[in-house]
Amino acid sequence: MTKTKFAEVVTLQAISAETMRARLKFPGGKHLLAAATEELGELAKALLQKKPKDEIEKEAIQVAAMMVRIIEEGCPEYDSLTAEESKP
Ligand SMILES: [Mg+2]
Repeated sequence: MTKTKFAEVVTLQAISAETMRARLKFPGGKHLLAAATEELGELAKALLQKKPKDEIEKEAIQVAAMMVRIIEEGCPEYDSLTAEESKP
């Protein structure tokens, strides 16, 4: 395995672990869009404040975990619209 591929595997494992941690802490999938937006804001703040690399990675992993949850669980509070209601 190349060094780059190994790093990718480690990152994906960290995202998976964070996704599981988040599901245990906040089960049910409510407010995922708000939580994802909050996490993205924390990542942006860490980047703009030039925080240490490990802190930026931690925030990026939290953002990625929220994206995984939205992909897998959807956003229940927005899923209640019918196809007709969803039309612009
Ligand atoms: Mg965060």
